[in-house]
Amino acid sequence: MSADPLFTRIFILGSGPAGLTAAIYAARAGLSPIVAQGLQPGGQLTITTDVENFPGFREPVQGPWLMEQMQAQAENVGARLVWDVITSVDLSKRPFRLTGDGGQIYLADALVISTGAQARWLGLQSETALRGKGISACATCDGFFFRGKKVAVIGGGNTAVEEALYLTNHSPEVTLIHRRDSLRAEKILQRRLLANPAIRIQWNSVVSEFIAGGDSALAAIELENTKTGALSRLEVEGAFIAIGHKPATDLFQGHIKLDNEGYIEVIPGTTHTSVEGVFACGDVMDKHYRQAVTAAGTGCMAALDAERFLGEIDFK
Ligand code: NAP
Repeated sequence: MSADPLFTRIFILGSGPAGLTAAIYAARAGLSPIVAQGLQPGGQLTITTDVENFPGFREPVQGPWLMEQMQAQAENVGARLVWDVITSVDLSKRPFRLTGDGGQIYLADALVISTGAQARWLGLQSETALRGKGISACATCDGFFFRGKKVAVIGGGNTAVEEALYLTNHSPEVTLIHRRDSLRAEKILQRRLLANPAIRIQWNSVVSEFIAGGDSALAAIELENTKTGALSRLEVEGAFIAIGHKPATDLFQGHIKLDNEGYIEVIPGTTHTSVEGVFACGDVMDKHYRQAVTAAGTGCMAALDAERFLGEIDFK
């Protein structure tokens, strides 16, 4: 038998930097938020090692440690974190109704969605084995660790091109590996890419294997030519997979407006979604920046937007 419904003024779905920042602000506003932590409490940072770009720390900190601090901070100021995975939502009327996988019902006057996004990976076993040992899905986060080393970027979209350009700040030679002979990225980015002498493009190529060196870190990539099937070897110490992200929005299909790539649409400059009283923050609504600090920033915005919304409905 499931427990009685739990009522909260504000429910936060997702516990990465966006959700926990929203929780800290909502709790400090006296709204006693409930935060459903989801399948990966703490979000993407819990599978990261060194974090060097989150302000406030002189030395690099570990991703899991940073998230533990945010969780403890949210709880200390009054947020209630629950180990639950929401499996269905009804946003057609208020209070919104959410159901956890054990049957617990939550009723909320306002909802903050911060379910994040997952990087897409190529799916090779050697890729999984070398993640964090030369293979990353975020050049802005990890490019700095490959200063002076040869690196590769896999993909042909805006992200891949931006990451390749960014990496030339640190690396003498960046190879962009793309499976076709033309890029999907915007023309202006393509022009910048082609004009950059530190970037080489390996067209019509896919990764068939990532190869570890003596130190068990990435040393080379085996490439397969998609036209000829010929194999070649590229010596690199860093590889950045930039083949897109998948926002975690399956739950909201048909309930809330999503764009054609599945990201939640918000009114620009705010976190308001197409449903009054539902707010979105972090990577689930941001395909451009995808940083812990920007997620935290939009989490703050979502809590402030929700607080204002709740203030308004109280006086209606
Ligand atoms: P994307 O546009 O979906 O591009 C993914 C790239 O990865 C494509 O070139 C695709 O190849 C390649 N790819 C996909 N699966 C692959 C696989 N299994 N093996 C090898 N290659 C694979 O993703 P994105 O670049 O992350 O961009 C996502 C969205 O964010 C886009 O709307 C983009 O415009 C936007 N964005 C905008 C900016 C900006 O405006 N500055 C910056 C970043 C992102 P094919 O081309 O052959 O399909």
